[in-house]
Amino acid sequence: MKEKLIRFMQGRYGVDTFSKFLLIMGLVVVLISSIFSGKTFGIIFYILGWILIIYCYFRMFSKNVTKRYAENQAFLAKTGGIRGFFKNQKAMWKQRKTHHIYKCPSCGQKIRIPKGKGKIEVCCPKCSTTFIKKS
Ligand SMILES: [Zn+2]
Repeated sequence: MKEKLIRFMQGRYGVDTFSKFLLIMGLVVVLISSIFSGKTFGIIFYILGWILIIYCYFRMFSKNVTKRYAENQAFLAKTGGIRGFFKNQKAMWKQRKTHHIYKCPSCGQKIRIPKGKGKIEVCCPKCSTTFIKKS
């Protein structure tokens, strides 16, 4: 069974970030459509969701690797800013317990300071302004 699957997937594109995004979006849209079931709006969402899911599978099993790769690259380039934003938020949330994030009063540069060091003088790495902060 596993061998059959491996043989089937040979030369095919497989899963990438764009496919994962399509699948999640598709599932979300189908889920939303169930809230509006019975309305035209719901039917449109239902079909739209399935199109996204089918497109995800079409990409996974596609043999046109070059084209799929280009699609994924374009997707990554377009969403780079948004993904970077969420990554930053996640990193900041993680550091929240051990670090303070302060903004430089003169240039607005974000500066990370470890907690529990008492009052310390902070020097901005961008404009070298110094200011006192409690850590
Ligand atoms: Zn500064």
